[in-house]
Amino acid sequence: MAESAPSAAADPRTAELAARLDAVRERISRAAAAAGRADLPRLVVVTKTHPAEDVLRLAALGVTDVGENRDQEARPKAAETAERLGSDAPRWHFIGQLQTNKAKHVVTYAAAVHSVDRVELVDALSRAVVLRREREGADAVADLDCLVQVDVDERADEDRPEGIGPRGGAPLDRVDAVAARLAAAEGLRLRGLMCVAPRGVDPADAFARLAGLGERLRAEHPQADVLSMGMSADLEAAVAAGATHVRIGSDILGARGHVG
Ligand SMILES: *Cc1c(COP(=O)(O)O)cnc(C)c1O
Repeated sequence: MAESAPSAAADPRTAELAARLDAVRERISRAAAAAGRADLPRLVVVTKTHPAEDVLRLAALGVTDVGENRDQEARPKAAETAERLGSDAPRWHFIGQLQTNKAKHVVTYAAAVHSVDRVELVDALSRAVVLRREREGADAVADLDCLVQVDVDERADEDRPEGIGPRGGAPLDRVDAVAARLAAAEGLRLRGLMCVAPRGVDPADAFARLAGLGERLRAEHPQADVLSMGMSADLEAAVAAGATHVRIGSDILGARGHVG
């Protein structure tokens, strides 16, 4: 089923991606070793703004998990990748702000949604999975893995440096309510927490806060053991703080345009 992708030798872009991917994997290994971790976090390669062709190249290089933050962009890329690679296509992680009316699309291609930030979105995702089951059969549609995205920035709006807004996620005092709704929702599985480190604070503090919340969450929901944290600029701090998933875009794919 899998179509052979261009080899690194014949295709300069594949060679570039291979080198950057190796460098990031090396950083992850070094960070894990430095933290005394025996396990390695899962690498989710964030392909937003880059073409489906790059997803195919990454899959040929052994990438099993890719991330996207906009449904309009992710949907056609996931469809094209599925068509070309079949069951060898990578898993899609949805990592961006999500409108409730897009939930019905996202559940058709995403294996996980990292950015669940409110109970209305829990309800929309649950309805969308249930609807798919009614159409396609209960056995054909797996539970959707979901993470609660947490806004770990404790600064009040007026205390943030000029031009720096919140980076998404449920406020700290809403996390329990969103998690409880997720845990009870049909068709969804509460798997853990996600954050984006706020600009202008030490990312280590932000990641420690998420790890602390994760520990509390696991006391009640043992299966919620995922901590999705760390991007190109701060992956070492995230691995040190116990990230189980890191989401890396620009250090593998190169700079993005102004989008995303
Ligand atoms: C874009 C994005 C990433 C990847 O960021 P890089 O700095 O390019 O590594 C990770 N997480 C989220 C939520 C993103 O939107």
